[in-house]
Amino acid sequence: MGKIILRKNEEHRIKAGHQWVFSNEIGQVQGEVANGDLVKIYNSKNMMVGQGFYNKNSLIAVRLLARDFDGEVEAYIKDKILKAYSLRRQFYPNRDSFRLVFSESDFLPGLIIDKYNNTFVLQIYSAAIERYIETIVSVLKEDFDAENIFTMNEQSIRVLEGLPEINEVYLGSIGEETIDDGKLKYKIKFATAQKTGFFFDQCDNREFTERISEDSSVLDVFCYSGGFGMHAASAGAYSVTFVDSSEDAIEQAKSNFKLNKLKCESEFVSSDAFDYLEKSIALSKTYDVVIIDPPAFSKTKKGLPVAIQGYIKLNKFAIQLVKNGGYLVTSSCSHHLKKKDFVNIMNVASDKTNRNTQIVTYTGAALDHPQIPAMDETSYLKFAILKITHP
Ligand code: SAH
Repeated sequence: MGKIILRKNEEHRIKAGHQWVFSNEIGQVQGEVANGDLVKIYNSKNMMVGQGFYNKNSLIAVRLLARDFDGEVEAYIKDKILKAYSLRRQFYPNRDSFRLVFSESDFLPGLIIDKYNNTFVLQIYSAAIERYIETIVSVLKEDFDAENIFTMNEQSIRVLEGLPEINEVYLGSIGEETIDDGKLKYKIKFATAQKTGFFFDQCDNREFTERISEDSSVLDVFCYSGGFGMHAASAGAYSVTFVDSSEDAIEQAKSNFKLNKLKCESEFVSSDAFDYLEKSIALSKTYDVVIIDPPAFSKTKKGLPVAIQGYIKLNKFAIQLVKNGGYLVTSSCSHHLKKKDFVNIMNVASDKTNRNTQIVTYTGAALDHPQIPAMDETSYLKFAILKITHP
């Protein structure tokens, strides 16, 4: 087996539980090592610090396996998928759909598996995981009665790993599923869906939003399949307006609203969010609850300053539309945006609108997205509810 020798003092992050060795931390590669090969990692004093998968095409040159890895890759993969499943079962005993495997957070670096009943949508972002795909498919068939298994990769991430920009169907076909999040139903048409089909990471936050929705008017911006607004409606909102720039998303939200037999007043608008918010401000519209759940404004650290200005503008517009005593529900899924930046965005937006704001809850992603304490990268979603009062 190939050996990776780290540069002096580069082992500390790894020993603390971080799972990535960056290419510039490697002093020497010993032996013939191909992309996706298992390697042993040593510090500069020749002490082993872990094992992982090597990829010379990636800045993340080695992705480490968990401390309990005993050298048997197939058995390790199966064990980690089953453990990931039992964690989800513990917290969502009544659900058949959730993020089953969340990559590093479940000690399977480069593998995401979203479970939609018996359909499993994968994202594969490491050469090693691609090599062991047969193991993964057989676990899903044997232990989960999988009927459909396919990938819906974000190709830009695969490019960073030097992997071909492709998707594969490993079992069955790319069809439809009607899932539930424990309370509400969603019909997912995978062929036209965004990401893997559904944003499981906001499940707990959608449910939390019910607590501020009774007898309220709600604006759900960036609604996608309508989850936030529908939870608000199910909790007694008297009106919900759904906004998304994607016509397809608006159609999904509309049909999901019907599917759940929700009764409140509803409006479905396909529009750019900024345009819609600005127009609504000009028309002096107000809502008890305004929800904004935008896509990541920046995928790189370099793009962060511009992204922050975008978030400030968005949150400012949204706060302007909240009635005195109402709530702003806000989030950001930009990996590079830290909690302090997010809180600062809320602070600046409150200041610009001259409102008193109180953060009543601050959370992250749902429980099927565990986080690794040593890896900030695994806690990307920031979510908050703010109480807004007018001076
Ligand atoms: N709130 C959703 C997830 C939102 S994902 C849920 O609970 O499932 C982000 C959404 O923003 C996508 O549906 C995308 O179509 C939409 N979007 C992206 N850019 C937009 C823009 N400029 N204006 C309005 N919607 C936009």
